[in-house]
Amino acid sequence: MAKLQIVKEGDETLRKVSRPVTEITPRIITLLDDMVETMRDANGCGLAAVQVGILRRIVVIETEESGLIELINPEIIKEVGVQEEGEGCLSVPGKWGITRRPAKVTVRALNRKGETVEYTGSGLLARAFCHEIDHLDGKLFIDKGNLVRYLDPDEVG
Ligand code: ZN
Repeated sequence: MAKLQIVKEGDETLRKVSRPVTEITPRIITLLDDMVETMRDANGCGLAAVQVGILRRIVVIETEESGLIELINPEIIKEVGVQEEGEGCLSVPGKWGITRRPAKVTVRALNRKGETVEYTGSGLLARAFCHEIDHLDGKLFIDKGNLVRYLDPDEVG
């Protein structure tokens, strides 16, 4: 496994739309492994492939509640309610904000074996699903429609 470099805000790569994965090749498996290592090394709870400069629809998420989740070609198939909570991004260092997201989200994707999987998450996991899938469409949490307000550094726990 290898730690990859994280693309930062200002790099236009982050604004591009990622392409679906058509075949789960050994290269895709290696990318998943490297993304997990990179996310853990950076103490993040989610990472999209575009954040390491690869425009493919691949996401990894890890929260205490969910454990490791790997998503290939993820889609949100159900949203319920609204939450406004804190969010940050490994590609937007030093900035945190309150975002408006659905309270509960169900996603459908492929896992690394090519099997269709579904996950439903609320709270942090719902925010992570939305945040990471937004990355695949070139969107960031600081964008209009997501961000309610920035948090001061002393408000961040
Ligand atoms: Zn992010």
